[in-house]
Amino acid sequence: MDFALSREHLALQAKARRFADEVLMPYEMECEDNDGLSAASLAAINQQVLSWEFNAINQAREDGGQGMSIFEQMLVDEQLGRITGAIWDTVFRPAYPLRFASQAQKHEYLIPTCLGTRRDAYAITEADAGSDPRQCVTRADRTGNGFRISGEKWFVTVGDVADYILVHAHVDGDADRAAVFFVDKNLPGVVVKRTPKYTHHFAYKHPEFIFDQVEVGEDKLLGRIGDGFELTKDWFVEARLGIAARCVGGATRVLEEANAFAAQRTQFGKSIRDFQAIEFMLADMAVEIMAAKSMLYRLSWDISQESDRKRNHGRAAALKLYCSEMVGRVCDRGVQILGGRGYMREQAVERLWRDTRVDRIWEGTSEIQRIIVGGQIKKRGTGTFTEW
Ligand SMILES: Cc1cc2nc3c(=O)[nH]c(=O)nc-3n(C[C@H](O)[C@H](O)[C@H](O)COP(=O)(O)OP(=O)(O)OC[C@H]3O[C@@H](n4cnc5c(N)ncnc54)[C@H](O)[C@@H]3O)c2cc1C
Repeated sequence: MDFALSREHLALQAKARRFADEVLMPYEMECEDNDGLSAASLAAINQQVLSWEFNAINQAREDGGQGMSIFEQMLVDEQLGRITGAIWDTVFRPAYPLRFASQAQKHEYLIPTCLGTRRDAYAITEADAGSDPRQCVTRADRTGNGFRISGEKWFVTVGDVADYILVHAHVDGDADRAAVFFVDKNLPGVVVKRTPKYTHHFAYKHPEFIFDQVEVGEDKLLGRIGDGFELTKDWFVEARLGIAARCVGGATRVLEEANAFAAQRTQFGKSIRDFQAIEFMLADMAVEIMAAKSMLYRLSWDISQESDRKRNHGRAAALKLYCSEMVGRVCDRGVQILGGRGYMREQAVERLWRDTRVDRIWEGTSEIQRIIVGGQIKKRGTGTFTEW
C-alpha cells in the first residue's frame, strides 16, 4: 500500500501554494478594508489565473478548462483555502452543471466562462426556500417560443460581477418540473433588489435579484425540464469537497500563525508556548487537522475513482460536515492563542475565523449533511462510512 502523492501531485500542490501565497495573499487587506476588490484588482487577478493555468480547473480541456480530476481539484482548493476574504473565488470555475450544456450553449456560455471573459452565478435559494428548494416559487411559464421567468432569488454569490445567472425555476409552478435557465443579467426585468452585508468580507457580493417576467427563448434551458434538482446533485459532491479542502487549508494557516505567534510571545517571563494550556491547544489543532486532512485526501481519491453516485454523495456530505466543523474549532483556538490580537481584523486568524463560519451553512447546512449521512446509514447500512 502506498499513500504517497505522485511527483505530479506534489508539483501541483506546490504550484497552488505558490499561487495562493504570491498572487492572491497580497490582496487580502484590500479585500478586508473595502469589503471586496476593485475592478482593477479583479482584472489583474483574472490575468494571473489564466497565466498560471488555474482557470476552470473543473471543466474539460476541450471546453477551455484544465480538466483536473476531483483529487487534483482538491489539492488546489486546499491551498486556496489559506487565503482570506474568499479571494479563492477569483480563481474562476464555471458551475459544474454547465458541462451538460448543448454545443451552442457551450459556445455562448461555458467556453467564454472557462476563458474568463464571461462569469456565471447560480441562483436557487429564495426567501422561503433554503434547505428545502422544492419550496421555490420562482416559476418559468411557457410562452409561444420560450419561457417567462418570475420570482426572487437570495444570496446570489458573484451576482455583482456575473453577466449571466443560472436560475433554478419550476416550469408552470410545478416542483416536479424543476429546470435551470441561462438568464443574461442585462435582460429587461432582471433587477438587483438589494445587496446585504455579511459577516465575512468577500471578494464579491451576494445580491438579491428580482426576475420580473423575464422572457427567455427555448434555447436558454440547460438540460431538460425536470432535471433541475439532478443537475445540482453531482455538483454538490464537487462543491462540498471544495469546501472541505478549503477548510483544511484555512485551518492549516491558522495553526501555522498561532504556532509562530506562541513561539515569540512572552508573558510572565517565558514564551507562551511553554504554558501547557497553549501547547495543548496547538496539539489539539494539529491533531484535528491531521484527522480531517487524512479523510480529505483518502475520500477525494476514492471519489475520483468511484462511480456510485449515492456513495459519493454520502461521503462528500460527511467530509464537508467534519471539515467545516473542524475549522471552526481550530480558528476559535487560534483566536484564543493570539489573545487581543486574535480579535483584530488585520490578523489572518481573525479573518479566517469569520470567513469559515459560512462553511457550516452554504451548500447545505451541517444539519442537512447529518440528514444525508443518517439517511444513507438507514438505507444502505454503515459501510459507506466505515468500510474503506
Ligand atoms: C454567504 C452566502 C452565500 C450563498 N450563496 C448562494 C448562491 O450563490 N446561490 C444560492 O442559491 N444560494 C446561496 N446561499 C444560500 C445557502 O445555500 C442557504 O443559506 C443554505 O442552503 C441554508 O438555507 P437557509 O439560509 O434558507 O436556511 P434554512 O433552510 O431556513 O435553515 C435554517 C436552520 O434550520 C435548519 N434546518 C432546516 N431544515 C432542517 C431539517 N430538515 N432538519 C434539521 N434542521 C433543519 C438549518 O440547518 C438551519 O440551521 C448562500 C448563503 C450564504 C450565507
